[in-house]
Amino acid sequence: MTDGKELKEKLFTNKNNGWENLSDEELKNIFQFADEYMYYLNNSKTEKEIVQNSKEILIKNGFVDISEKETLTPGDKVFYVNRGRCLYAAVIGIENLENGLKIVAAHGDSPRIDLKQNPLYEDNGLGMLKTHYYGGIKKYQWTNIPLSIHGTVIKPDGEKVNICIGEKEEDPIFTISDLLPHLAGEQMERKLKDGVQGEELNVLVGSIPYDSDEVSERVKLNILKLLNERYGIKEVDFVSSEIELVPAFKAKSMGFDYSLIAGYGQDDKVCCYTGLRAIIDTINPRKTAMCVITDKEEVGFNGVTGMYTRIFDTFVLELLEKTGNTRAISLDKAFSNTQAISADVDAAYNPNFPNAFERNNSAYFGRGMSLVKYTGARGKSGASEAPAEFVAELRKVFDEVGARYQACELGKVDKGGGGTIALTLANRGMDVVDVGVPVMGMHSPYEITSKFDVYQAYKGYKAFFNK
Ligand code: MN
Ligand code: MN
Repeated sequence: MTDGKELKEKLFTNKNNGWENLSDEELKNIFQFADEYMYYLNNSKTEKEIVQNSKEILIKNGFVDISEKETLTPGDKVFYVNRGRCLYAAVIGIENLENGLKIVAAHGDSPRIDLKQNPLYEDNGLGMLKTHYYGGIKKYQWTNIPLSIHGTVIKPDGEKVNICIGEKEEDPIFTISDLLPHLAGEQMERKLKDGVQGEELNVLVGSIPYDSDEVSERVKLNILKLLNERYGIKEVDFVSSEIELVPAFKAKSMGFDYSLIAGYGQDDKVCCYTGLRAIIDTINPRKTAMCVITDKEEVGFNGVTGMYTRIFDTFVLELLEKTGNTRAISLDKAFSNTQAISADVDAAYNPNFPNAFERNNSAYFGRGMSLVKYTGARGKSGASEAPAEFVAELRKVFDEVGARYQACELGKVDKGGGGTIALTLANRGMDVVDVGVPVMGMHSPYEITSKFDVYQAYKGYKAFFNK
């Protein structure tokens, strides 16, 4: 090698394509992990489904509900499910819990279309559902695609009715119909953000009238009759329901080389899965390891199942109490000694829109985990910037196991921005940094990731827990 070449290799940051020079075994692992992840994704489209599915995986791997344990000792594996929508899993470490935990926290909720509480109506012989979208979506992307209905209706007597229509091959699907181009002259003059407006996101759900000419709204009546026969529900039961419309299509390998994954809800189910797999592979860690699947990230971290919830603190308190740490200051001590990864996705560079990205600080497919020291917008506003000391420690952890990462931020300065749950952990006194997987087309019905990067996240989180 010439002097210059050698020097460059020594001094420059590695920006090589991660797919190059992989061993056959590593390649096999990457593709197998991706298959398992896609299977999980297809069974975990809502925040409740991902929690249920993850809980079952944990139980299969020896985790037990924390209520079953009177005391906890190193190596014990426990979990807690908060209202069926969020999940905390922990492996008790050798060191005292007051010395802090290692947390990987991801979110299981994804942008979607929720039903309103009075959803059903009839318009000129068509049965329709009113919706209110959840999270930051480009509304026009959610029209004319197959949607499935997932949710729960709770009746006043406590009976719980689960609904899931549109996932099985023989199921019907639903759709939000956009206007045909021939008549869209006026609509096409709107700004893109108003191309389809919130109150235009109504779902078409039926067209056969109830067979009687004595009553009005016969299509609506027929739909309610079908729902009543199948689920025992009446119109008023929608008041105490949570029903979501999500893309009905399945996660798939993408590209001639199968290197990418297209699927709904990868923000942030990709980090839920990699975090979950990492904690399952965590045996006798030095510090107590915890994997979090939280809810309500996409709408600001609030609520009883969001990351601000006291229920999270209660779970850590229970871990403390059951390991014999009952000082009044135990929780704050544990928090202030904790290192956390806010496991969330970052925007991957999109060749169709190069101007939104700053080349030096964008995440690229095939270069590993996205490591985001700060989020926020307009002068890092709202960010809980990670301390360089913590980032340096993580670099060592990742480098030791060869888990590839890339430092990046979300697009160009002042182009937009975004936040993650990092600040909810930092404000509790923890060191925290965002480390996740780059996603293209984030918040669209069909998000894209690279299988290489997904596997690096699993490797990185596992190394973090086991260090
Ligand atoms: Mn996210
Ligand atoms: Mn998001």
